[in-house]
Amino acid sequence: MTKDSLITFARSRTARLAASYLAIIMIMSVGFSMVLYNTSSHELGRKLPPPSIYAQFSDNIQLDYQHYVDKRIQQARNRLLGNLALLNVATLVGGSYFSYLLARRTLEPIEEAMEAQSRFASDASHELRTPLAAIQTENEVALRKDTLTLSRAKELLQSNLEEVKKLRELADGLLRLAREDNHELAMDAVSLSTIVTEATNRVIKPAQQKHIEIHDNIIDAKVFADSASAIQVISVLLDNAIKYSDKKQPISITSWIKGRFAFISVTDKGQGIAEEDLPRIFERFYRADSSRSSQNVSGYGLGLSIAYKIVKQHGGTISVTSAPGQGSTFTIKLPLAEEHTPAES
Ligand code: ADP
Repeated sequence: MTKDSLITFARSRTARLAASYLAIIMIMSVGFSMVLYNTSSHELGRKLPPPSIYAQFSDNIQLDYQHYVDKRIQQARNRLLGNLALLNVATLVGGSYFSYLLARRTLEPIEEAMEAQSRFASDASHELRTPLAAIQTENEVALRKDTLTLSRAKELLQSNLEEVKKLRELADGLLRLAREDNHELAMDAVSLSTIVTEATNRVIKPAQQKHIEIHDNIIDAKVFADSASAIQVISVLLDNAIKYSDKKQPISITSWIKGRFAFISVTDKGQGIAEEDLPRIFERFYRADSSRSSQNVSGYGLGLSIAYKIVKQHGGTISVTSAPGQGSTFTIKLPLAEEHTPAES
């Protein structure tokens, strides 16, 4: 270890916390040793035989014996002191290692959470910069010109509006993500077909624009869910299916029951997802390269991470199977309501 890395380590949060733990251990160890030494030392002093036992001997012998006993007591005290010092050195060494491990264990989850927080903030700022930069450049270029015709001004406003819409979409997504972190779910028995109808209504416009039909085959069952959140999850899946499909490609939404769960799957015949992207699509801000580069597919890579979070909060799962060029199927699993109905007394 170089001097610099040693200094950096000494200043680190782990080292500081470990030092605090070690200080506590050492205070206890030294305190305990002092009490032990004082008590034992006092006890040793008291263990002299009563004078009546050696009164029969001459003064010299008595004096010698007294010296001998005093010497033995002093030796015992020194030995005790030495042992306690050794014990404290061993506690210092072992305690340092133990404190370091304990400090790392304490700080690891906190540091992970802090890192995730700062990654989230930097990703969000990065996404915010793109539309803001576009608005700024367009307006600056227009202002630099001496004249601005009404049609050009309208064009500019239209373009600005598009960017503002994107910003709003992003802000909504961020808010939803933040809300889902500490959102109390209003859990109730909700009809699967009501959820799906509501979600389908939300995406009717983009579906019509692309002449995409949504075929549903939903069974009559009730899930135990927060209605608004469940609608949101299905809308995300339907919205993606529309966004990543060509015109006129139908989408189907199906449901079935297995055990204590209801399964709902959304299948499209769109562009599909490459195998290397599959494990990452539920991460915040992750967009497969094909989606990023595609100019007319809007999005910030937040939809699926919101869906993932909601489904998890419900004690369910979300999974995907996909083949590039052929389409994708997203399946969610939610608990059935019957399981949560209180038993009649
Ligand atoms: P967004 O759609 O806003 O980019 P999402 O979090 O909803 O964000 O999706 C993340 C990524 O997963 C998308 O960018 C896309 O690459 C991929 N994806 C999601 N759904 C589909 C789908 N049905 N077909 C193809 N790719 C999809």
